[in-house]
Amino acid sequence: MGKLILIPTPIGNLEDITLRAIRCIKEADVVLAEDTRVTLKLLNHLQISKKVYPYHAHNEHKLLDTIVQKIEENSLTVLLSDAGTPAISDPGFLLVRACVDKHISVSCLPGPTAFVPALVMSAFPCDRFCFEGFLPHKKGRQTKVKEIENEERTCVLYESPHRIIKTLKLFQEFFDEQRKICVLREISKIYEQSIRGTVIEVLDYFSANEDKIKGEMVIVIEGKK
Ligand code: SAM
Repeated sequence: MGKLILIPTPIGNLEDITLRAIRCIKEADVVLAEDTRVTLKLLNHLQISKKVYPYHAHNEHKLLDTIVQKIEENSLTVLLSDAGTPAISDPGFLLVRACVDKHISVSCLPGPTAFVPALVMSAFPCDRFCFEGFLPHKKGRQTKVKEIENEERTCVLYESPHRIIKTLKLFQEFFDEQRKICVLREISKIYEQSIRGTVIEVLDYFSANEDKIKGEMVIVIEGKK
């Protein structure tokens, strides 16, 4: 039987690739990648020469059966995202479930992901937490924010710089004004930054520092007291 391995890749700092990740990529019969150009850049950096096949949100349903069949034919298949751990707000879940349904061995290597360092650096309790990925863009957005308002555990969200102000304004509308948040930018990169405070304080910071409304961001929200 073949095997599927999900391989986390660096979220900003290329030194964060593990030795095991490099070995698994080298040993793989099939390399699947969210964006082949991004993965080829990483493989070039690691001096690995391999053909890389696209596996992303737009073709994952269509390719599922073919990939599972290929793995069943005894291939070691690895899946990589552009950055971080596959299946965490990235394609991967469907393939994992399909392989498990067929009793194919699945491993996910420990490695980079944005939400763990963000949670830890937020300095909010991390013995219990919830991860909500990206907020819905339209339908269900307010409902989700109201749910988070009631959440007693620390809550972690992914957000894009294009939406951060809009999202913080929505928090301002629904959250108690004392509720604390922390926005972690550019984790593991040169300009890594944590912005802490109440929603209004963080909003004020971004209004006064518009140059910071860019890059990758994670929002961590203190649990309801
Ligand atoms: N699979 C990835 C993981 O394991 O974290 C997440 C992929 S998701 C498409 C991309 C989101 O992750 C970004 O919008 C941002 O919220 C977060 N992210 C990724 N890299 C980051 C970084 N270096 N600093 C802060 N947030 C990051």
